[in-house]
Amino acid sequence: MKKYSIGIDLGGTKILTALVDKQTGEVIHSVKKKTKKDKGPKNIIKKMIDSIDELLNETPIDDISSIGIGAAGQVDRKNGILIAAVNLDCYDLNIREKIKKHYNLPVYLGNDVEIAAMGELKFGAAKGYKDVVCIFVGTGVGSAIIKDGKIIKGATGTAGEIGHIIVDLNGRPCACGAHGCLEAYASRSAIEKRIEGALKKGRSSVIIDYMESGKSITSHMIHDAIEQGDELVTQCVNEAAEYLSGGIASVINLINPELIVLGGGLIEAVDYFYQQVIKKAKAKSLPVPASKIEFKKAGLGDYSGVIGAAFLENE
Ligand SMILES: [Zn+2]
Repeated sequence: MKKYSIGIDLGGTKILTALVDKQTGEVIHSVKKKTKKDKGPKNIIKKMIDSIDELLNETPIDDISSIGIGAAGQVDRKNGILIAAVNLDCYDLNIREKIKKHYNLPVYLGNDVEIAAMGELKFGAAKGYKDVVCIFVGTGVGSAIIKDGKIIKGATGTAGEIGHIIVDLNGRPCACGAHGCLEAYASRSAIEKRIEGALKKGRSSVIIDYMESGKSITSHMIHDAIEQGDELVTQCVNEAAEYLSGGIASVINLINPELIVLGGGLIEAVDYFYQQVIKKAKAKSLPVPASKIEFKKAGLGDYSGVIGAAFLENE
Protein backbone atom coordinates (compact mmCIF):
# COMPACT_ATOMS: atom_id res chain seq x y z
CA MET A 1 0.00 0.00 0.00
CA LYS A 2 1.27 3.45 -0.86
CA LYS A 3 1.88 5.56 2.17
CA TYR A 4 0.22 8.88 1.29
CA SER A 5 -2.98 10.27 -0.18
CA ILE A 6 -4.18 13.73 -1.04
CA GLY A 7 -7.34 14.73 0.81
CA ILE A 8 -9.45 17.71 -0.25
CA ASP A 9 -12.22 19.29 1.81
CA LEU A 10 -14.26 21.37 -0.61
CA GLY A 11 -16.47 23.60 1.53
CA GLY A 12 -18.71 26.57 0.90
CA THR A 13 -16.10 29.08 2.07
CA LYS A 14 -12.75 27.32 1.63
CA ILE A 15 -10.85 24.49 -0.03
CA LEU A 16 -8.44 22.71 2.28
CA THR A 17 -6.02 20.37 0.49
CA ALA A 18 -3.62 18.14 2.41
CA LEU A 19 -1.05 15.44 1.98
CA VAL A 20 -1.97 12.77 4.52
CA ASP A 21 0.10 9.88 5.85
CA LYS A 22 -2.46 7.07 5.76
CA GLN A 23 -0.70 4.99 8.41
CA THR A 24 -0.54 7.67 11.07
CA GLY A 25 -3.23 10.14 9.96
CA GLU A 26 -0.63 12.89 10.06
CA VAL A 27 -1.18 15.92 7.82
CA ILE A 28 2.27 16.35 6.25
CA HIS A 29 1.43 19.60 4.51
CA SER A 30 -1.73 21.55 3.67
CA VAL A 31 -2.89 24.38 1.42
CA LYS A 32 -5.94 26.53 2.13
CA LYS A 33 -7.78 28.68 -0.41
CA LYS A 34 -10.93 30.73 -0.01
CA THR A 35 -13.90 30.02 -2.28
CA LYS A 36 -16.19 32.77 -1.10
CA LYS A 37 -15.88 35.11 -4.08
CA ASP A 38 -14.77 32.75 -6.83
CA LYS A 39 -17.62 30.33 -7.10
CA GLY A 40 -18.81 28.43 -10.16
CA PRO A 41 -17.38 25.25 -11.70
CA LYS A 42 -14.42 26.80 -13.58
CA ASN A 43 -13.08 28.65 -10.55
CA ILE A 44 -13.57 25.73 -8.20
CA ILE A 45 -11.73 23.25 -10.46
CA LYS A 46 -8.92 25.74 -11.05
CA LYS A 47 -8.51 26.36 -7.31
CA MET A 48 -8.39 22.64 -6.60
CA ILE A 49 -5.73 22.05 -9.28
CA ASP A 50 -3.70 25.04 -8.06
CA SER A 51 -3.91 23.68 -4.51
CA ILE A 52 -2.75 20.19 -5.54
CA ASP A 53 0.11 21.66 -7.62
CA GLU A 54 1.21 23.83 -4.70
CA LEU A 55 1.08 20.88 -2.35
CA LEU A 56 3.13 18.67 -4.68
CA ASN A 57 5.68 21.41 -5.36
CA GLU A 58 6.19 22.13 -1.70
CA THR A 59 6.36 18.47 -0.64
CA PRO A 60 7.71 16.39 -3.52
CA ILE A 61 6.60 12.83 -2.69
CA ASP A 62 5.90 10.06 -5.24
CA ASP A 63 4.34 7.56 -2.90
CA ILE A 64 0.74 8.80 -3.37
CA SER A 65 -2.15 6.36 -3.89
CA SER A 66 -5.15 8.60 -4.60
CA ILE A 67 -6.88 11.95 -4.48
CA GLY A 68 -10.01 11.98 -2.30
CA ILE A 69 -12.43 14.91 -2.41
CA GLY A 70 -15.28 15.59 -0.02
CA ALA A 71 -17.65 18.28 -1.27
CA ALA A 72 -20.32 20.28 0.53
CA GLY A 73 -23.25 19.08 -1.50
CA GLN A 74 -24.95 16.07 -3.04
CA VAL A 75 -22.59 13.72 -4.84
CA ASP A 76 -22.73 10.79 -7.21
CA ARG A 77 -19.86 8.78 -5.71
CA LYS A 78 -19.87 6.11 -8.41
CA ASN A 79 -19.34 8.54 -11.28
CA GLY A 80 -17.44 11.21 -9.37
CA ILE A 81 -20.03 13.88 -10.11
CA LEU A 82 -20.94 16.79 -7.84
CA ILE A 83 -24.70 16.83 -8.43
CA ALA A 84 -25.54 20.01 -6.57
CA ALA A 85 -23.54 22.31 -4.30
CA VAL A 86 -25.63 25.42 -3.74
CA ASN A 87 -22.92 27.29 -1.79
CA LEU A 88 -20.37 26.71 -4.55
CA ASP A 89 -22.77 27.39 -7.40
CA CYS A 90 -21.81 24.03 -8.98
CA TYR A 91 -24.26 21.62 -10.55
CA ASP A 92 -23.63 18.34 -12.42
CA LEU A 93 -19.91 18.91 -12.30
CA ASN A 94 -17.78 15.88 -13.20
CA ILE A 95 -15.02 16.53 -10.68
CA ARG A 96 -13.36 13.16 -11.15
CA GLU A 97 -12.89 13.60 -14.91
CA LYS A 98 -11.63 17.19 -14.55
CA ILE A 99 -9.07 16.37 -11.84
CA LYS A 100 -8.01 13.01 -13.29
CA LYS A 101 -6.94 14.71 -16.54
CA HIS A 102 -4.16 16.48 -14.66
CA TYR A 103 -2.83 13.72 -12.42
CA ASN A 104 -2.16 10.08 -13.03
CA LEU A 105 -4.01 9.03 -9.88
CA PRO A 106 -7.41 7.58 -8.99
CA VAL A 107 -9.84 10.31 -7.90
CA TYR A 108 -12.67 9.60 -5.45
CA LEU A 109 -15.58 11.82 -4.46
CA GLY A 110 -17.64 11.87 -1.28
CA ASN A 111 -19.47 14.52 0.70
CA ASP A 112 -18.08 16.81 3.38
CA VAL A 113 -19.87 15.26 6.35
CA GLU A 114 -18.89 11.76 5.28
CA ILE A 115 -15.18 12.62 5.09
CA ALA A 116 -15.23 14.47 8.43
CA ALA A 117 -16.86 11.43 10.06
CA MET A 118 -14.37 9.11 8.36
CA GLY A 119 -11.48 11.21 9.70
CA GLU A 120 -12.90 11.05 13.23
CA LEU A 121 -13.39 7.28 12.89
CA LYS A 122 -9.86 6.60 11.64
CA PHE A 123 -7.84 8.93 13.86
CA GLY A 124 -10.16 11.12 15.96
CA ALA A 125 -12.82 10.87 18.67
CA ALA A 126 -14.51 7.79 17.15
CA LYS A 127 -11.35 5.69 16.83
CA GLY A 128 -11.97 2.20 18.18
CA TYR A 129 -15.78 2.52 18.06
CA LYS A 130 -18.10 0.69 15.66
CA ASP A 131 -21.57 2.25 16.00
CA VAL A 132 -21.29 6.00 15.94
CA VAL A 133 -23.25 9.02 14.81
CA CYS A 134 -21.15 12.11 14.02
CA ILE A 135 -23.04 15.39 14.10
CA PHE A 136 -21.57 18.67 12.89
CA VAL A 137 -23.16 21.97 13.84
CA GLY A 138 -22.24 25.11 11.93
CA THR A 139 -24.02 26.96 9.15
CA GLY A 140 -26.22 23.86 8.94
CA VAL A 141 -26.55 20.63 10.90
CA GLY A 142 -25.15 17.53 9.20
CA SER A 143 -24.51 14.00 10.33
CA ALA A 144 -23.07 10.68 9.28
CA ILE A 145 -24.10 7.30 10.66
CA ILE A 146 -21.36 4.71 11.12
CA LYS A 147 -22.42 1.09 11.51
CA ASP A 148 -19.82 -1.64 12.08
CA GLY A 149 -17.10 0.82 11.11
CA LYS A 150 -18.71 1.79 7.80
CA ILE A 151 -20.70 4.86 6.81
CA ILE A 152 -24.34 4.14 5.99
CA LYS A 153 -25.13 5.82 2.69
CA GLY A 154 -28.70 4.74 1.97
CA ALA A 155 -30.51 4.11 -1.31
CA THR A 156 -29.69 7.51 -2.80
CA GLY A 157 -26.46 8.12 -0.89
CA THR A 158 -28.02 10.82 1.24
CA ALA A 159 -28.50 9.07 4.60
CA GLY A 160 -27.75 11.04 7.76
CA GLU A 161 -29.62 14.27 7.03
CA ILE A 162 -30.32 14.96 10.70
CA GLY A 163 -30.68 18.66 9.93
CA HIS A 164 -33.94 17.93 8.16
CA ILE A 165 -35.60 15.94 10.92
CA ILE A 166 -38.86 17.80 11.39
CA VAL A 167 -39.16 19.11 14.94
CA ASP A 168 -42.16 21.42 14.43
CA LEU A 169 -44.85 20.62 11.86
CA ASN A 170 -45.85 24.24 11.47
CA GLY A 171 -42.42 25.61 12.15
CA ARG A 172 -39.86 27.90 10.59
CA PRO A 173 -39.13 27.56 6.87
CA CYS A 174 -35.98 25.63 5.99
CA ALA A 175 -33.68 26.11 2.98
CA CYS A 176 -34.78 22.65 1.75
CA GLY A 177 -38.34 23.89 1.22
CA ALA A 178 -39.92 22.12 4.19
CA HIS A 179 -41.04 23.67 7.46
CA GLY A 180 -39.80 23.02 10.98
CA CYS A 181 -36.50 21.25 10.18
CA LEU A 182 -33.99 20.92 13.03
CA GLU A 183 -31.46 22.98 11.06
CA ALA A 184 -33.78 26.00 11.23
CA TYR A 185 -33.57 25.85 15.06
CA ALA A 186 -30.22 24.41 16.06
CA SER A 187 -27.58 25.65 13.59
CA ARG A 188 -25.26 28.60 14.17
CA SER A 189 -27.21 30.48 11.49
CA ALA A 190 -30.49 29.80 13.32
CA ILE A 191 -29.05 31.16 16.58
CA GLU A 192 -27.71 34.20 14.71
CA LYS A 193 -31.13 34.91 13.24
CA ARG A 194 -32.80 34.64 16.67
CA ILE A 195 -30.29 37.03 18.23
CA GLU A 196 -30.51 39.51 15.34
CA GLY A 197 -34.31 39.38 15.42
CA ALA A 198 -34.36 40.15 19.15
CA LEU A 199 -31.85 43.00 18.74
CA LYS A 200 -34.05 44.55 16.06
CA LYS A 201 -36.94 44.45 18.50
CA GLY A 202 -34.85 46.44 20.97
CA ARG A 203 -33.47 43.73 23.26
CA SER A 204 -30.05 44.59 24.65
CA SER A 205 -27.02 42.33 24.57
CA VAL A 206 -23.23 42.61 24.94
CA ILE A 207 -22.96 40.96 21.52
CA ILE A 208 -23.67 44.37 19.95
CA ASP A 209 -20.26 45.50 21.22
CA TYR A 210 -18.54 42.63 19.40
CA MET A 211 -20.32 43.09 16.07
CA GLU A 212 -18.62 45.18 13.42
CA SER A 213 -21.18 46.91 11.28
CA GLY A 214 -22.36 44.79 8.38
CA LYS A 215 -20.59 41.68 9.69
CA SER A 216 -22.41 38.66 11.01
CA ILE A 217 -22.32 36.98 14.41
CA THR A 218 -19.63 34.31 14.85
CA SER A 219 -19.41 31.30 17.16
CA HIS A 220 -16.67 33.08 19.10
CA MET A 221 -18.90 36.09 19.73
CA ILE A 222 -21.59 33.73 21.04
CA HIS A 223 -19.00 32.14 23.35
CA ASP A 224 -17.82 35.51 24.67
CA ALA A 225 -21.36 36.76 25.27
CA ILE A 226 -22.22 33.66 27.30
CA GLU A 227 -19.01 34.07 29.33
CA GLN A 228 -20.23 37.60 30.14
CA GLY A 229 -23.54 36.13 31.36
CA ASP A 230 -25.49 37.77 28.54
CA GLU A 231 -29.17 37.01 28.97
CA LEU A 232 -30.31 37.19 25.34
CA VAL A 233 -27.50 35.09 23.86
CA THR A 234 -27.78 32.49 26.64
CA GLN A 235 -31.52 32.28 26.03
CA CYS A 236 -31.08 31.77 22.25
CA VAL A 237 -28.37 29.14 22.79
CA ASN A 238 -30.52 27.33 25.36
CA GLU A 239 -33.38 27.26 22.88
CA ALA A 240 -31.12 25.80 20.16
CA ALA A 241 -29.78 23.21 22.65
CA GLU A 242 -33.36 22.23 23.48
CA TYR A 243 -34.09 21.48 19.81
CA LEU A 244 -30.75 19.85 18.99
CA SER A 245 -30.99 17.58 22.03
CA GLY A 246 -34.49 16.56 20.92
CA GLY A 247 -33.15 15.64 17.49
CA ILE A 248 -30.23 13.75 19.03
CA ALA A 249 -32.52 11.88 21.45
CA SER A 250 -34.56 10.72 18.44
CA VAL A 251 -31.34 9.51 16.79
CA ILE A 252 -30.28 7.68 19.98
CA ASN A 253 -33.66 5.95 20.20
CA LEU A 254 -33.74 5.08 16.49
CA ILE A 255 -30.13 4.00 15.85
CA ASN A 256 -28.95 3.00 19.37
CA PRO A 257 -25.32 4.07 18.79
CA GLU A 258 -22.54 3.61 21.37
CA LEU A 259 -21.06 7.05 20.71
CA ILE A 260 -22.17 10.44 19.44
CA VAL A 261 -19.40 12.71 18.21
CA LEU A 262 -20.30 16.38 18.11
CA GLY A 263 -18.24 18.77 16.01
CA GLY A 264 -18.37 21.90 13.89
CA GLY A 265 -17.65 25.56 14.62
CA LEU A 266 -20.41 26.14 17.17
CA ILE A 267 -19.57 23.03 19.23
CA GLU A 268 -15.84 23.82 19.14
CA ALA A 269 -16.27 27.42 20.21
CA VAL A 270 -19.17 27.21 22.68
CA ASP A 271 -18.58 24.56 25.34
CA TYR A 272 -21.70 25.71 27.20
CA PHE A 273 -23.79 24.69 24.17
CA TYR A 274 -22.09 21.28 23.97
CA GLN A 275 -22.67 20.61 27.68
CA GLN A 276 -26.32 21.66 27.50
CA VAL A 277 -26.93 19.49 24.45
CA ILE A 278 -25.47 16.30 25.94
CA LYS A 279 -27.23 16.77 29.28
CA LYS A 280 -30.61 17.37 27.63
CA ALA A 281 -30.15 14.63 24.98
CA LYS A 282 -29.52 12.00 27.68
CA ALA A 283 -32.56 13.17 29.61
CA LYS A 284 -34.81 13.02 26.53
CA SER A 285 -33.69 9.56 25.28
CA LEU A 286 -35.26 6.27 26.27
CA PRO A 287 -33.56 4.92 29.41
CA VAL A 288 -32.01 1.77 27.91
CA PRO A 289 -30.22 3.30 24.88
CA ALA A 290 -29.37 6.35 27.04
CA SER A 291 -27.62 4.12 29.58
CA LYS A 292 -24.97 3.09 27.04
CA ILE A 293 -24.50 6.31 25.11
CA GLU A 294 -21.21 8.22 25.21
CA PHE A 295 -20.61 11.73 23.91
CA LYS A 296 -17.33 13.14 22.65
CA LYS A 297 -16.26 16.31 20.91
CA ALA A 298 -14.70 15.86 17.48
CA GLY A 299 -10.95 15.61 17.92
CA LEU A 300 -9.38 16.64 14.61
CA GLY A 301 -10.83 20.13 14.13
CA ASP A 302 -10.35 21.50 10.64
CA TYR A 303 -8.34 18.47 9.58
CA SER A 304 -11.03 15.80 10.07
CA GLY A 305 -12.27 16.25 6.47
CA VAL A 306 -8.93 16.09 4.66
CA ILE A 307 -7.82 13.10 6.74
CA GLY A 308 -11.08 11.28 6.01
CA ALA A 309 -10.94 12.21 2.31
CA ALA A 310 -7.56 10.47 2.06
CA PHE A 311 -9.41 7.22 2.80
CA LEU A 312 -12.17 7.55 0.19
CA GLU A 313 -12.40 4.57 -2.14
CA ASN A 314 -14.60 3.39 -4.95
CA GLU A 315 -18.11 2.36 -4.08
ZN1 LIG B 1 -34.99 21.17 5.81
